[in-house]
Amino acid sequence: MLARRRRDHNSLVERIAVRIDDPVGRLRFLKIVEPEIQDRLKGRSPRRARFLLIPVLLAAALAGVILLRAPAKAQPALSPVRPAGPAAAPSPGQPSEVWEVEKTDSSETYSNGLWIDDRYAVPNHPRSYLAFPANRTDGPAVRRSDPAGVVFHTTESLQAVFSPEENGTLRRIGESLLDYVRRKRAYHYVIDRFGRVHRVVAESDAANHAGYSVWADEQWLYLNLNEGFFGVSFEAQTDPGGAGAAIGPAQVRAAAMLVEMLRSRYRIPAANCVTHAQVSVNPSNMQAGYHTDWAFGFPFEQLGLPDNYARDLPSVWAFGFQYASGPAGTAGLGVYAGAARTEECIKERASAAGIGVAAYRKSLQKRFERRFDEIRRLQTQPSEGSS
Ligand SMILES: [Zn+2]
Repeated sequence: MLARRRRDHNSLVERIAVRIDDPVGRLRFLKIVEPEIQDRLKGRSPRRARFLLIPVLLAAALAGVILLRAPAKAQPALSPVRPAGPAAAPSPGQPSEVWEVEKTDSSETYSNGLWIDDRYAVPNHPRSYLAFPANRTDGPAVRRSDPAGVVFHTTESLQAVFSPEENGTLRRIGESLLDYVRRKRAYHYVIDRFGRVHRVVAESDAANHAGYSVWADEQWLYLNLNEGFFGVSFEAQTDPGGAGAAIGPAQVRAAAMLVEMLRSRYRIPAANCVTHAQVSVNPSNMQAGYHTDWAFGFPFEQLGLPDNYARDLPSVWAFGFQYASGPAGTAGLGVYAGAARTEECIKERASAAGIGVAAYRKSLQKRFERRFDEIRRLQTQPSEGSS
């Protein structure tokens, strides 16, 4: 009985949700509806429960519209959220050359306007990792020490109101965050609320930013990106109301210059600049998206990058992980839209191989276990000191 009520409710909610064009509005609508309906369904008769759906859905739809119409005043620093497109992301090619103009004991200046504060810089252990051939199931791994990509994070740290009266508090909070990140060797770079770029872990070293994680480009599969990818974190907190992470224009400008410098210096492909939610996995239950920072709404375009949410997810197609679906998943945003697309790809490949989806996924998971063992034999398990 409860299951039938649940199906009725899901069907009605979905019919309304698909009519909300804006992805943020859709997510807000779903977030509002879910707990309300859950509470009201408990212990009610089916007829009573169906009757209750109507005012709740109307209230939620109205709230969605109101929130959509007044975002500028409430959250001026929000970066725009872009819906994920179905097509593969085009590569914009390499950025123009960026070079170091001046270096002092405490800072660096670059030709594209990037300025880096080095006062918090610390060493960690030198970068060294295994890369696996992307298209050969059991091809030999290659040991590398060059950075292959960038993972974007949010610090999820305490935030103060962004106004001149709060300058002292904003600076104090920022300094205490940098102290913490330095102690944990948590990121290579932190971009603070004022758009200042702080180097923490040296570029030549690994940082504890991504834990268990998976990404791939056309040639290589990468596991546990602490070693192979830079960690760049925005001092920001994800909005619990469902609008994603709020970052300011100064942070976006600084990140664009930092990404341009890193890509120019290390020839990093644009497709390897991705968010933590796209790469994070939990091997103990084979769920992907264990960390959800930047699950959607990352301003790829403003950073001179293609919409990498449009890329299929390597944790799913190469290793058979699955994404847990919450309200953001139902709304089809960012990484969740990518996960749904990649699941379709899994079905097609299973059908082409002439086996069931479950059996095909199992074979992918076995592949992960083998690769994971190779890494375990050669390096310790990844640390994770951050969001
Ligand atoms: Zn993170």
